[in-house]
Amino acid sequence: MYAKKSREELQAEESLLAPVYARIAIQESISKYEMPEGEMLPQTAYNIIHDELMLDGNARLNLATFVTTWMEPEAARLMAETFDKNMIDKDEYPQTASIEARCVNIIARLWNSPDGEEAVGTSTIGSSEAAMLGGMSLLRKWRKRREAEGKPADRPNMVMGINVQICWEKFCVYWDIEPRFVPMEEGRYHLGVEEAIELCDENTIGVMVIMGSTFDGSYEPVKQISDALDRLQEEKGLDIPIHVDGASGGFVAPFLQPELEWDFRVPRVQSINASGHKYGLVYPGVGWIIWRNRDALPEELVFKVNYLGGEMPTFSLNFSRPGNQVVAQYFNFLRLGKDGYRRIHQACRDVALYLSDALDRNHELIELITDGSDIPVFALRMADAAKTRTNYTVFDLSERLRDRGWQVPAYTFPKNCEHIAALRIVIKEGFNRDLADLLLSDFERHINWFLKHPEHKPKQSGSHFSH
Ligand SMILES: *Cc1c(COP(=O)(O)O)cnc(C)c1O
Repeated sequence: MYAKKSREELQAEESLLAPVYARIAIQESISKYEMPEGEMLPQTAYNIIHDELMLDGNARLNLATFVTTWMEPEAARLMAETFDKNMIDKDEYPQTASIEARCVNIIARLWNSPDGEEAVGTSTIGSSEAAMLGGMSLLRKWRKRREAEGKPADRPNMVMGINVQICWEKFCVYWDIEPRFVPMEEGRYHLGVEEAIELCDENTIGVMVIMGSTFDGSYEPVKQISDALDRLQEEKGLDIPIHVDGASGGFVAPFLQPELEWDFRVPRVQSINASGHKYGLVYPGVGWIIWRNRDALPEELVFKVNYLGGEMPTFSLNFSRPGNQVVAQYFNFLRLGKDGYRRIHQACRDVALYLSDALDRNHELIELITDGSDIPVFALRMADAAKTRTNYTVFDLSERLRDRGWQVPAYTFPKNCEHIAALRIVIKEGFNRDLADLLLSDFERHINWFLKHPEHKPKQSGSHFSH
């Protein structure tokens, strides 16, 4: 028998020598909602948190998210080396600022910014912040025009598809704008041309068009909407601009559909946002917005601060923000070049098309909504034929795919298509053909089980939907 040591004695003894999992701090229940009174060794804290996070899903099996889950080790190293850089300190970190400016130029060219006009743009924390900046510019421009004409400017509206990402609903609530949503209909799951025009009037600050719909990955018809707005202008004198939400498609279309006119080649397009952390291939924390020219960005929205030294224009909702994601974006541009981006996106699209085709052909229970030919994202639903064979839903399928770690979200469609429940699969860099085959065999296993137990009544499942 040894004499029981006091807690103080044990703590005094505890040093780097003590095995991590025998330390006092790791054996007691940890403080979760209040800051602990004392310290613990950094290695102990690391292990506690690291271990807890094992319960999070495996990011590489996350087919729900559009956000990057794999980068090259050199990119990760560069990001770790630049964790300490604040993007806002442009005077202190002039090279980081210069790298941001290069990225703005590179992206503006990618989006066919008109020759001879000076493209303006900025990095943001993601597409949501970029969307706020784009929407605010449209609002300001509209308000100034209305005031100059001596007309009321108190009831702005924005026209968009009901399939918009949540950031646009937020934008409308935060800035008191009436959202005018075009509902879906069976067979049309994004913004329709005629339907959009019908909702436009003199109070419309802009039409918001999506390249890569959150619901099914499809591109909305930017050019056709622009042409229809031209006709509206001829008939009614309304000059309504377009903002393109290219959160996903902004970094895909220039490489996979270079002939498609959706960007600044369309004169009505005033601004475009994209997520660097989606098909820009950077870990989470970076978005971009580019305006067609200086005129598209009202200058009263750009603030100048001098307290960091120098005089620096800022246009953002945040002030401080990590600079390392911008560095990582530039790493990708330099490392991959246009060919590299094209090859990666092409490889993702090949996998998406392979998967969607195999699911479509092999499984009578499944019907495709999209096949992944726009961005490498596709959605599927239970086929009508399924209803006579089994009463399982995509919610059951989603839940069962989890048994080996696959995260494939199931959700219902919005207004006028609430009866449609879909599964969505986002293919990103790092998801290869071999993983696709493994996923297919798990689909196979679950569907066969459904068919063997058709009498089973599934319980009602909720919708889990991820951006
Ligand atoms: C992801 C997404 C957003 C929001 O982008 P974040 O970068 O996550 O803020 C906006 N619009 C669309 C179409 C998206 O897919």
